Amino acid sequence: MVSRVIPVEAFDLVVFGGTGDLARRKILPGLFRRFVSGQMPKSAQIIAAARSDFDTSRFLDVVSASINEFAGIEFASEMLLAFLENVRYVKIDAMGSDGWDDLKGMMRGECVRAFYFSVSPALFGPLAERLKTFGIADDQSRVVVEKPFGRDLASARELNQTLAHHFREDQIYRIDHYLGKETVQNLMAVRFGNMLFEPLWNAQYIDHIQITVAEQIDVEGRGDYYDKSGAMRDMVQNHLMQLLCLIAMEPPSQFSPDAVRDEKLKVIRALDEVPPHHIVRGQYAAKETVPDYREQVGNRSSRTESYIALKAHIKNWRWAGTPFYLRTGKRLKSRVSEIAVVFKEPPHSIFEADSGQKSNTLVIRLQPDEGITMDVTIKEPGPGGMRLVTVPLDMTFAEALGPSADDIPDAYERLIMDVIRGNQTLFMRGDEVEAAWEWTDPIIEGWERRNDVPKPYDALTSGPDDALMLLHRDNRKWRAL
Ligand code: NAP
Repeated sequence: MVSRVIPVEAFDLVVFGGTGDLARRKILPGLFRRFVSGQMPKSAQIIAAARSDFDTSRFLDVVSASINEFAGIEFASEMLLAFLENVRYVKIDAMGSDGWDDLKGMMRGECVRAFYFSVSPALFGPLAERLKTFGIADDQSRVVVEKPFGRDLASARELNQTLAHHFREDQIYRIDHYLGKETVQNLMAVRFGNMLFEPLWNAQYIDHIQITVAEQIDVEGRGDYYDKSGAMRDMVQNHLMQLLCLIAMEPPSQFSPDAVRDEKLKVIRALDEVPPHHIVRGQYAAKETVPDYREQVGNRSSRTESYIALKAHIKNWRWAGTPFYLRTGKRLKSRVSEIAVVFKEPPHSIFEADSGQKSNTLVIRLQPDEGITMDVTIKEPGPGGMRLVTVPLDMTFAEALGPSADDIPDAYERLIMDVIRGNQTLFMRGDEVEAAWEWTDPIIEGWERRNDVPKPYDALTSGPDDALMLLHRDNRKWRAL
């Protein structure tokens, strides 16, 4: 089966921060892939804006290089030339007044206008203000903003207010690229498109849920930013929280942006406070040639966590008594992002105690090898009596349905196409972000008040031993990394 590509409307997309790392690695190569697939119309225009002194022709060399390095597909050189025909560069300082009239002159009449703020959040306000002052953005334009969206509730509120001063909420697209992953959307299809799961999707049948985002990489040149944030701000408040919402939310009445986001918001608001003994903070220590965290961020007295594990509870009828274990960290043994829904054991086993029966686990894997599997118990084939084995039932059916893994759009490209389509379902609403900070802030404030020092863990392992104990105390185990 060949997947259908429905072209989006013609658009002008201005990428502020067009010379930056995110634009070069994700946004521009992603747009090129959509162009190759036929989803991005030939008439679409991409304008990169930044302070660097490029003219369009020199900037196109940068774009070609980043596409060659990061697009990850084979393509004919004519295809690249056709794409580059519609890419421009404009020199603009977000804090100044030069270049804005040039940008205005490049914008066309009747088409979707989108502005991607791929810059530091400190520039969101100045950019929004100038887009309005120079008459470039109007009440139909869309703005896309990157994380981090604040570093606490107060700063997130301030950012929301700044943006709200210039744009309506339905014009603002706050990116969390985890929501753009194919499997995350498949999770919603599996949950709400089948009768099979929803009746079991509650504390009566689900023992616990594990959400893991484990990285092997270190802070990768972002040491300064990361050391001021840590795993809680950088990962839990946004990505892990969004995954938790999709797993735990009630079925929305329809698959529309506000219906979905209303349900996600209710989950965040129902989260219980997390007591300190349900949280483990870690910081990686050196191992063999791998330097320790403090050396990598250049701060020998850093108390920032590069790892966090915690146990959360949702205070509502559906989830009372089912813990949600969240963990994320850098420099871990392997790179894995997954959600594991671990079902309870059958109330009574008719098989012998050593028959090999295990509880069912639904695993939603975001990376590597995106897909959804369900561990089910079956009889081990053969004449050896009633021996049981657990086998994964693959619910992705990628082979049967296509497209091949190479054709699945990267999260960024899918989300940019959603911006052009005007669909906010996979973007965070302002109140969601604020509610997430409201839950996170007291945890971080507690660490600061107590001068909490993260537990060291050896790089390239599963994290601190205390994290293992967090589940061990509940007679449970983390899934292997
Ligand atoms: P970056 O490599 O530092 O790029 C920043 C961009 O902003 C550059 O293009 C820079 O270009 C431009 N810029 C800086 N000051 C400016 C000004 N006054 N006026 C106009 N342009 C200005 O950062 P990045 O990694 O691309 O990240 C961009 C945003 O995305 C950040 O908020 C980051 O937190 C977020 N983000 C990044 C990633 C990632 O993987 N990189 C992932 C998630 C979120 P000039 O110096 O030429 O002006």
